[in-house]
Amino acid sequence: MPESVAATTALKILKDTFGYDSFRGPQQDIIDVLINGGDALVLMPTGGGKSLCYQIPALVRQGCGVVISPLIALMQNQVEALRLNGVRAEFLNSTLDARRVAEIEADLLAGEIDLLYIAPERLNQPRTLALLQDADIGLFAIDEAHCVSQWGHDFRPDYIQLNILHEVFPDVPRVALTATADARTQAEIVSKLELGDARQFIAGFDRPNIRYRIALKQTPKSQLLSFLQTEHENHAGIVYCLSRKKTEQTAEWLGQKGFKALPYHAGLDSDVRAKHQSRFLKEEGVIIVATIAFGMGIDKPDVRFVVHLDLPKTLEAYYQETGRAGRDGEPADAWMVYGLQDVAKLGQMMDKSEGSEEFKQLERLKLNAMLGFCEITTCRRHALLTYFDEDSPATCGNCDTCLNPPETWDGSLSVQKALSAVYRTGQRFGVNHLTDVLRGVENDRVIQFDHHQLGVFGIGKEIVSEEWKSVYRQLLARGFLRADADKFGAIVLEEKCRGLLRGEETIQLRRDIIDKSSKSTAKKLTKTPLPDDIDVTLWEALRETRRTLAEEQGVPPYVIFHDKTLQAMAEDMPSTLDAFSRLPGVGERKRDKYGETFLKIING
Ligand code: ADP
Ligand code: ZN
Repeated sequence: MPESVAATTALKILKDTFGYDSFRGPQQDIIDVLINGGDALVLMPTGGGKSLCYQIPALVRQGCGVVISPLIALMQNQVEALRLNGVRAEFLNSTLDARRVAEIEADLLAGEIDLLYIAPERLNQPRTLALLQDADIGLFAIDEAHCVSQWGHDFRPDYIQLNILHEVFPDVPRVALTATADARTQAEIVSKLELGDARQFIAGFDRPNIRYRIALKQTPKSQLLSFLQTEHENHAGIVYCLSRKKTEQTAEWLGQKGFKALPYHAGLDSDVRAKHQSRFLKEEGVIIVATIAFGMGIDKPDVRFVVHLDLPKTLEAYYQETGRAGRDGEPADAWMVYGLQDVAKLGQMMDKSEGSEEFKQLERLKLNAMLGFCEITTCRRHALLTYFDEDSPATCGNCDTCLNPPETWDGSLSVQKALSAVYRTGQRFGVNHLTDVLRGVENDRVIQFDHHQLGVFGIGKEIVSEEWKSVYRQLLARGFLRADADKFGAIVLEEKCRGLLRGEETIQLRRDIIDKSSKSTAKKLTKTPLPDDIDVTLWEALRETRRTLAEEQGVPPYVIFHDKTLQAMAEDMPSTLDAFSRLPGVGERKRDKYGETFLKIING
């Protein structure tokens, strides 16, 4: 097919089938390469629009597009969503019975399938390979391609064997796709899948619609409640906690406050887990309170917030977990509360963890990067992208430090006092005791250890306890102090504090934003996907209609229409089918299937 014809066909499919007007970022170029028979490696952040990169070429090219995906749970949703757009899509995995498999195989051989999703372990069976050899295959898409990498976090042995595709089908174009950033994984994908000649499309990893915010942990439950009530009423979201028990307690408590919150962790029965996950996908406004066991393969597009009640151990984990918010490109929040207890707890956990010294050192470096990220006074997004080796502007305008620049103060003298208190009390005490000593509090413990006799006793009365805790937290986070696991978490000095202790160096500290004004700042930051001038009654009626249709068809509401499409309905209020079909996300099939129903709601 001449290139210009291919490009016009691709654009027409984008509009007619998927209901979008233009390609995003590198989509067009990737699609061109594949249509013309070339291979491609695609790195795009979550929500970037990877699926269309192989779905459209599969529709343009002769033959069936085969998609290898490790996530059996998601195949069904993807296939249903494609079918609602009029695409002939099927999946082959272990959930099907023999009769259904035989039907699909026959359809494939008859050339009646546009897109076929297959799990990797199935593809590697000789029987499947023989089937594909008999069929007309237009392209192979290897989704979640980082699973081929032993370095990464989701290694799947079956992925290694996917290089067989290259040998058995030398003329069929292949595209490998992933959202995993680092260079080592990229290199492994290229070598293991023999994609040396593939065009590489490495998009940036920024998620501009996610607003990064980290608040000081004071009363975490009520901070969470106020965040949810002021900004995310009726929204779907994920709340991450460190322990199983805490996920259950938090879910129960949110339930009492009127939220639809469900726990999720590895200790729950698998059917309870499956039920909770399915409710999260299919119902609206469900909050999952989870340990990190939850998330792999959740590609629900309308997750509006990801909360961390406990600090993740690495920035990689933070980025991956927060990345589950806002895949649909609409505004979403990554919101975390963090405090002194997190710093001390994680540090100790790391000291006690099994593993070589080398491994522990690496873990510690990663934790330090995470802590540094919490304490910075400059743009969070810039720091995050810099950590992942990506250039970005110094400010983003969509994180807490950009929106409410934190104050800093010269903490040199206070730090000297804080460090002296650690030193003079023998490096055997925790922050509370040290604070009492500095503030000159004569309690039993202070007297028991004769600390009221020390020179440091009462030298820090000018600062309140909360501020001393803030000083200690920042010193711990920045590696001047350490909570020693062998001494029950006592604070000890690190070599690098020497200059500060002697008063030879100065230090700027972050002034904590004490949460007296959580409501007012929250207001300023609020941005729900619903613009102010939309008629709320109409909006609710549209959602209700979508919900009913979704239930009838047994699919999640967003598979019918995304929020963005509903929003456009409420804003533009189309009165004809023609106008309806111009809304984003409305292709021909959905116009015919749902147009009348929604027009009736819109026009009364
Ligand atoms: P990824 O797989 O990269 O995480 P998806 O393929 O699921 O992302 O796409 C994310 C969202 O963006 C989907 O809702 C999709 O419909 C939408 N999208 C993709 N490409 C376009 C486009 N060109 N115009 C408008 N929306 C798009
Ligand atoms: Zn910023």
